[in-house]
Amino acid sequence: MSVINSVTRSPSIENLIEMEVERRLKERQSAAEKALEELRPLCEELPQSVIDPISLEVFDSPMVTRCAHTFERESLIAMYHADPRINQFGEQIINCPICKKPSCLQKIYYDLAFKENIDHLKKIKEVFNKHVISKQT
Ligand SMILES: [Zn+2]
Repeated sequence: MSVINSVTRSPSIENLIEMEVERRLKERQSAAEKALEELRPLCEELPQSVIDPISLEVFDSPMVTRCAHTFERESLIAMYHADPRINQFGEQIINCPICKKPSCLQKIYYDLAFKENIDHLKKIKEVFNKHVISKQT
């Protein structure tokens, strides 16, 4: 009698598999929820370093001056037009709004690696907003 009872009470192999699958799913769901919570502050707001200090907009075409400061292309052009100066070589000169060192517009280059990093961050933020933040409201 006791042998029969113990057999009928023990779960079948199908039940054991189902319980194990459920346990693993809950474990993964919990890990995913923890990861999303840690990513939330990084995804909700882009870092200050991706903001052009002149226009206060996220960089679209970041350019590096001779003094190694980064500004949006249009901001540098607007700065030049606000105070147009040409040096002895015929180059258009601007002074860096941060350190005041002169740079000539013809020798300022796109920061392509920075641009790629910004685009990468924007994509992460966009995906997070689409799949996480928008689902909560
Ligand atoms: Zn500078």
